Amino acid sequence: MSNYNFQDIEKKWQKIWENSKSFEITAGNGSLPKYYLLVMFPYPSGNLHMGHVRNYVLGDVFARFYRMKHYQVLQPIGWDSFGLPAENAAIKNKVHPKKWTKQNISQMRVQLKQLGISYDWSREIATCDPEYYKWNQWFFIKLWEKGLAFRKESQVNWCPSCKTVLANEQVNQGLCWRCDSNTETKKLEQWFLKITDYAEELLSGHELLEKGWPSQVLTMQKNWIGKSAGAEADFILVSDDREKRTNIRIFTTRPDTLFGATFMVLSPEHQIIQDFSSKIKNIKEITEYIEKSQKKTIIERTNIEKEKTGVKITGITAVNPVNKRPIPVFIADYVLSSYGTGAIMAVPAHDQRDWEFAKKYNIPIIEVIHTEDNAIFEKAYEGEGVMINSGEFNGLPSQEGANKIIAWLENSKIGKKAVNYKLKDWLVSRQRYWGTPIPMIHCKECGIVPVEGKDLPVILPENVIITGAGRSPLAEVESFVKVKCPRCGKDARRETDTMDTFVDSSWYFARYCDPKNEKQPFDPKIAGQWLPVDQYIGGIEHACMHLIYSRFWHKLMRDLKLVSSDEPFNKLLTQGMVTLGGSVMSKSKGNVVSPDEIVVKYGADTIRLFILFAAPPEKQLDWSPEGVEGCWRFINRVWNLCSQEHTGYGTAQAVPKDLADKKLMNKVHRVIKKVSDDIEKEQQLNTAISAVMELVNEIYSYRSKASQETVDLATRTVLKLLTPFTPHVCEELWEKIGEKENIASSTWPEYNEKYLATDTVEIPVQLNGKLRGTVSVPRDIQEQELKKTICSDNKFKLYIDGKNIVKFIYVQNKIANMIIK
Ligand SMILES: [Zn+2]
Ligand SMILES: [Zn+2]
Repeated sequence: MSNYNFQDIEKKWQKIWENSKSFEITAGNGSLPKYYLLVMFPYPSGNLHMGHVRNYVLGDVFARFYRMKHYQVLQPIGWDSFGLPAENAAIKNKVHPKKWTKQNISQMRVQLKQLGISYDWSREIATCDPEYYKWNQWFFIKLWEKGLAFRKESQVNWCPSCKTVLANEQVNQGLCWRCDSNTETKKLEQWFLKITDYAEELLSGHELLEKGWPSQVLTMQKNWIGKSAGAEADFILVSDDREKRTNIRIFTTRPDTLFGATFMVLSPEHQIIQDFSSKIKNIKEITEYIEKSQKKTIIERTNIEKEKTGVKITGITAVNPVNKRPIPVFIADYVLSSYGTGAIMAVPAHDQRDWEFAKKYNIPIIEVIHTEDNAIFEKAYEGEGVMINSGEFNGLPSQEGANKIIAWLENSKIGKKAVNYKLKDWLVSRQRYWGTPIPMIHCKECGIVPVEGKDLPVILPENVIITGAGRSPLAEVESFVKVKCPRCGKDARRETDTMDTFVDSSWYFARYCDPKNEKQPFDPKIAGQWLPVDQYIGGIEHACMHLIYSRFWHKLMRDLKLVSSDEPFNKLLTQGMVTLGGSVMSKSKGNVVSPDEIVVKYGADTIRLFILFAAPPEKQLDWSPEGVEGCWRFINRVWNLCSQEHTGYGTAQAVPKDLADKKLMNKVHRVIKKVSDDIEKEQQLNTAISAVMELVNEIYSYRSKASQETVDLATRTVLKLLTPFTPHVCEELWEKIGEKENIASSTWPEYNEKYLATDTVEIPVQLNGKLRGTVSVPRDIQEQELKKTICSDNKFKLYIDGKNIVKFIYVQNKIANMIIK
């Protein structure tokens, strides 16, 4: 047989799969279970990197495995193709974002096909196509009608380098998630989606996901949603001349410490400051402070490491409602307008941040939860305990006291039980070009009016000058902006912001179910045959943005009666990074191994095998040329195994065939069980592969001892077990051994308990009562067979040959004694 020529083999099978539409699927065969395998779709940057390859190859193992288990498998692919890089490339290379994007898609499509991933290419989508983003617009209008999309002025994160607004999730430690620039805050009118309406459900939904999602992701989401229970209470604010008075509501997670509130802090954005500006004596100082704080990022403002700054507001005083005590009011930028009510009561005895602030500004610290030896002089005591200095609530433990104080607040109509979330409404408008136009019209007469359904999609115009300056490029396109109001017919203006691209990726998994639908985003009946996704695979960096947004969107679609499940993804696998020498591969570090290079040198099967074998899926994978070489050698070993199969080896040797057969059969079935469990239950593909490698070794060592039939069976099993990992070479060898059907659509082997049970035991052998050695035989071996084994074993032969066996005593699986004369 010829050498392993991967170039020809891989091309040949990729063509066969494509021509025979092997992986295209239509739902509807109700008798077969469905399996929807989804990988996070790529941004078409133009080049597939090793992280992509890992993601998609992992997915392909599951898709191919379940296909061989005769599930109806949907494994689609598409392109998350709107976004800033296309715009930046346009500015840099003077090429239109559309052209740039489409070229990249063509290039990456070729790269993906070269990897032999079993996608249903007939369902390919690109989010920058009007056929797709039309439905973003349709959804947006639905949400507007339900009051879930709205416009408001707010403090937003602003990246001065990308010149766009960023969602909270897109700011990491004060830095832009995309370009790492320091972000600022700005007040702008923006579009929001009311994700906060679903905050509670996004949390409680975790119960459904506990079994199938990594707990780390759930914890990250939980922290992000940041639910805290407590109370709201009204403090009275009064000007020193008593002319102006108002209530100001605060949120606290510790109502049991209300009596210890010795000052109050407002966020710089709080409305009260404007309302009371004529009464504030140091208004100039306050205004300066506000201006300064606007230059800081949210992270800078709330960083616990940094010293808290603030200014006392003179001319007004607050009154603590529980003890009627007058307390000073400060403005400080560590209080955010977006948290709670933008005003806090400060309890320095029991909150470290307040304690530090009180020390700095010389404010009284009153202990209201008892501590030993006045420990609060050293630092705040933040735990629970017994209430003191709290009037009628003295002596109560924290929990009970908190409930009683809440009841008292509710009775006195100055407060209530309340829950606060860190999760904020999703800011979805962007002042950029390459995204879905927000389908709204501003009319002087009618206000904001949605585009009518029949006029969708609002097409993104192509004749646009992209400069990267702050204003939306669409605002410069007169033919786009000028429009008639759909309601009153008068001249009106189109909205020129585009949508956050995270909208695109929030529902693409549903579009794949019915990707060509022109009448609706997808047919709920068809989507119902596939959703929810059975297995989703992608990077852990998406734990808080994409994976929260798409859960939210799924619930929106459920409420629009488009889907019937509560959650979009049953199981989630977050694959680890690919590193070289321990650090992440990146162009700037110059430590990138290009997948193309490896495919050219070793073939797709080798790169697939290495990536799957080198580390468990969720762990970091360090690239190793030796490891790649090793995988290449292994594939050659499998190749050679088959090439010799029909050249007449396997002739009987001295060792009885049946014992060797049993041992090999035992190994075969143990490996089938191991590989099946490792893929299906454990999702540990590296150990699955090493089990097949052991089996291959075993076949080599048994090939001259076991019967040809058994060796054949073992070899065929190896090919099937390897198909999800190295599909091309397996197809080729399958054909070589005479099979007509593609191995990809053959049946996954089942293990048989009967063979599993036959593991081996060591049996001490006595001859005439004297121990002469041991034999290794299958457990529960029959007496006759054991006798044969002993007689043909060289170490006993010399005693037995030429003699008669007069008696054979066998205690099953324990000991054998042969009486010979
Ligand atoms: Zn940026
Ligand atoms: Zn109008």
